[in-house]
Amino acid sequence: MTTNPSAITHFIGGRAAAGTSARVQDVTNPATGAVTGRVALANAADVDAAVAAAQAAFPAWADTPPIRRARVMFKFLELVNQHKDALARLITAEHGKVFTDAQGEVARGIDIIEFACGIPQLLKGDFTDQVSTGMDNWTLRQPLGVVAGITPFNFPVMVPMWMFPVAIAAGNSFVLKPSPIDPSPSLFIGELLKQAGLPDGVYNVVQGDKEAVDALLVHPDVKAISFVGSTPIANHIYETGARHGKRVQALGGAKNHMVVMPDADLDQAVDALIGAAYGSAGERCMAISVAVLVGDVADRIMPKLVERTKALKVLDGMNLAAEMGPIVTAAAHQRISGYIETGAKEGAKLLVDGRGFKGASAGKGCDQGFWMGGTLFDHVGTDMRIYKEEIFGPVLSCVRVPDFAQAVQIINEHEFGNGVSCFTRDGNVAREFARRIQVGMVGINVPIPVPMAWHGFGGWKKSLFGDMHAYGEEGVRFYTKQKSIMQRWPESIGKGAEFVMPTAK
Ligand code: NAD
Repeated sequence: MTTNPSAITHFIGGRAAAGTSARVQDVTNPATGAVTGRVALANAADVDAAVAAAQAAFPAWADTPPIRRARVMFKFLELVNQHKDALARLITAEHGKVFTDAQGEVARGIDIIEFACGIPQLLKGDFTDQVSTGMDNWTLRQPLGVVAGITPFNFPVMVPMWMFPVAIAAGNSFVLKPSPIDPSPSLFIGELLKQAGLPDGVYNVVQGDKEAVDALLVHPDVKAISFVGSTPIANHIYETGARHGKRVQALGGAKNHMVVMPDADLDQAVDALIGAAYGSAGERCMAISVAVLVGDVADRIMPKLVERTKALKVLDGMNLAAEMGPIVTAAAHQRISGYIETGAKEGAKLLVDGRGFKGASAGKGCDQGFWMGGTLFDHVGTDMRIYKEEIFGPVLSCVRVPDFAQAVQIINEHEFGNGVSCFTRDGNVAREFARRIQVGMVGINVPIPVPMAWHGFGGWKKSLFGDMHAYGEEGVRFYTKQKSIMQRWPESIGKGAEFVMPTAK
């Protein structure tokens, strides 16, 4: 079905730009299957144009006092707050996640803008008086230049906001390459930044796919790349970007476990598992995809999990009663269905099969959408593909282990290390878990421990390539380089050349 698809362009130098490439990609409403837009796919010349606009804007923006850059961010914050529901509607229309969840996504993006408004304090350097007689030493942080962000489909507002508010407030100019699956919010954000008084060229968008990304990765004027997406691409971005002399932070995929200890409040654990496994149809990098059930928990919790998985309200995202919306694309639907088939073949016990769900029951016009219900597997083994690989859909795999030590061991042996959670009432278990687990973001009785704006986000192992996390103080460090200055005046300079290594006098 096609409903007069709109042309979705780039945003270069403060205005919409059609670009020079003839390639386009359909943008679909996942709830109905209707093609609603056609997004331009940039070629290397379009990327050059965006980087050139960013490069031209950089010197004046970098020279703008941080407090004036912060004032632009404050104005932008006000505008995003005014338009937050419009942004959430755009997310639901192209991603499919339920409107209330999309509102939550925008709210978590707003947190980062608020953080970026504090940039004068964050950029404050360190000063040491009298490092040697008559000599002072201080450090300051300066912006890098043009920096780029490459973002995934699953958070078309929040993930770009992990990057550009901090990068721009720190004095850089920015080129965003959003996912072509849900490209529209990036343009709306561009309009709001312009209204906030951001000079043209400081924020640019190139729509596109691998061709645009590869052009950014080798572009000599791009000084740093922030990437969020799947692990194989994160690895490619990290290696290629680093080879071309860029600073890179590349956040990858995940397989997040939630341990339920025998002393946990089971009803709370069930609520947590259902929300964290099926919220946003499991298409969150912090979704819980594995429940690790310790001791007798499995037998006690399974009937509740089955009942709640079957009772999920899978509805059109704009229906305020919806708990879960459709899958993002037909291709993702097919991939997830394939994993469910594989899991059953591998010998896991398929307790609830979401493949039978019919779109027609999700709402009017939904019969051609990419619909699926929640899926629940029990007796999943750690050698199975559904355990080892990221499915990125509404599929919860339950693994039974005899004790806490086994729970920690399987999690530590998994190749991903993004988020993890442990439900328990035992303070010592909680403490041991938080200390021993080889995962970047840990929740104790918190299923989705996404760090707040000033703490920084990042996983371990194959969930992050590079050494700095997104946003927070690490974000500020990522987007700036440190300079150290030593200064003295003629009155403090002794006579004669010095040939020995200078030391404090
Ligand atoms: P993806 O890796 O397919 O795409 C991410 C970005 O890379 C997009 O902009 C895409 O256009 C681009 N891209 C895709 N293929 C490319 C290629 N061959 N060469 C260069 N660029 C390419 O990821 P996705 O499907 O959009 O998003 C889901 C994935 O993102 C999941 O694996 C999820 O775990 C991960 N994710 C991770 C985090 C995190 O913080 N660690 C957050 C959100 C999503």
